[in-house]
Amino acid sequence: MTKAQKAEIVAAELERLYPSPRIPLDSVNTFTFLTAVVLSAQCTDRRVNEVGEKLFALADTPEKMAALPLAKIRAVIRPCGLYETKSKNIKALSKIICERFGGEVPRTFEELESLPGVGHKTASVLMSQAFGVPAFPVDTHIHRLAARWGLSSGKNVETTERDLKKIFPKDKWANLHLQLIYYGREYCKAHTCKTPETFCPMCKKLRRK
Ligand code: SF4
Repeated sequence: MTKAQKAEIVAAELERLYPSPRIPLDSVNTFTFLTAVVLSAQCTDRRVNEVGEKLFALADTPEKMAALPLAKIRAVIRPCGLYETKSKNIKALSKIICERFGGEVPRTFEELESLPGVGHKTASVLMSQAFGVPAFPVDTHIHRLAARWGLSSGKNVETTERDLKKIFPKDKWANLHLQLIYYGREYCKAHTCKTPETFCPMCKKLRRK
């Protein structure tokens, strides 16, 4: 089976399983969405949403967040883990958005990636989910699935992103990103399925052809 054939099967099956994938992180505006994505590193969406609700009640704009004492941000986001780094980054990026970007979350990869705590994946999530610009954020779930399904060599996340962008049409990237995350969480738990009987539905489908 060629990569293109596999991609077709994967896209159809994901569409069948998750026809309208919702963005799992709650937010009230682009700034709170960015903050939620920063909080989500090594944390569950559920925890981020609980913490986000408390944090955004105190500060839902970069101005308010920059004015919040660091100790307060740290205390509120503590349940998310990595709170020392995340609190510093949230405070610093809020200040930069106010001073350099007129209080608006910037809309380019370069500007987004210049913010503390915002790497290429986070910037891609913003571009894709907040600004509607085609981007394909690749996290560890997606990286693993793409390798298992033979859609990418699985060398690193950069290669996976490049390979996935080649085989899927641009207008599907935003949904596929979410669908792959949902699939990975539901079926593929960082273990290796050793025998065909234990394969998940997608792996069974891909092997059958
Ligand atoms: S068969 Fe196992 S390893 Fe392959 S994608 Fe499914 S759950 Fe993951």
